[in-house]
Amino acid sequence: MTRRGLLIILSSPSGAGKSTLARGLRDWDANIRFSVSATTRAPREGEVDGKDYAFISEPAFKSMVREGQMLEHAHVFGHFYGSPRAPVADAIEAGADVLFDIDWQGAQQIANSPMAPHVLSIFLLPPSISELRRRLEGRGQDSAEVIAKRMTRSWDEISHWDSYDYVLINDDLEKTAEQLRTIVTAERLRRTQQPGLLDQVRVLQSEFEDGS
Ligand code: ADP
Ligand code: 5GP
Repeated sequence: MTRRGLLIILSSPSGAGKSTLARGLRDWDANIRFSVSATTRAPREGEVDGKDYAFISEPAFKSMVREGQMLEHAHVFGHFYGSPRAPVADAIEAGADVLFDIDWQGAQQIANSPMAPHVLSIFLLPPSISELRRRLEGRGQDSAEVIAKRMTRSWDEISHWDSYDYVLINDDLEKTAEQLRTIVTAERLRRTQQPGLLDQVRVLQSEFEDGS
């Protein structure tokens, strides 16, 4: 393996642009796989089971947690959400990166796990609260009641901004997308992400000692 995969965590208050930017990052490089979360909430119109989420029952969710099958899990907006462990291990093994669209609770659990050296966490801030509201309304996905709930929760999410490696203000979509690509490109060059380096250096060392 020339490269070890990164665990890329993208968090933000709802509506700041996570899904849009995550899709852009995956389209940029097919070597980035989405972690498909399991959730107990009902699918929204247009959401596909197994693609957007694995929609499962509460007993099924709890049994996965009990059996240690979740890398992290949290209770958000009255429902359970979690990242199944097995697909992440497979992707990392194959040298692919895994992108998580999860909240701060999940981000902290992964950042405190044995995977920590391979975690890249990024938080997105909206340029203003009024713009955040505009984006939630413009997305046209939620009722006024759900939007109000999301807005109430957004400060809770934003208050955890300082536990992330990078914080980006998503004012201009193309600018933020470019910043994300730059961060991922640089983080892939971290020493801990290049398991082949030791062999490479050993070759250099033997050449050096041979006097060549
Ligand atoms: P999240 O996944 O964080 O809830 P989305 O990616 O669904 O947010 O974005 C919410 C809405 O805001 C979408 O309609 C999206 O097209 C729009 N959006 C995202 N980023 C920007 C931006 N920089 N400028 C304007 N609109 C944006
Ligand atoms: P939504 O219901 O709008 O798809 O997601 C609501 C919130 O749950 C978002 O902030 C999203 O990032 C978070 N979320 C989605 N999947 C997971 C997960 O697997 N774990 C955690 N901790 N949060 C998640």
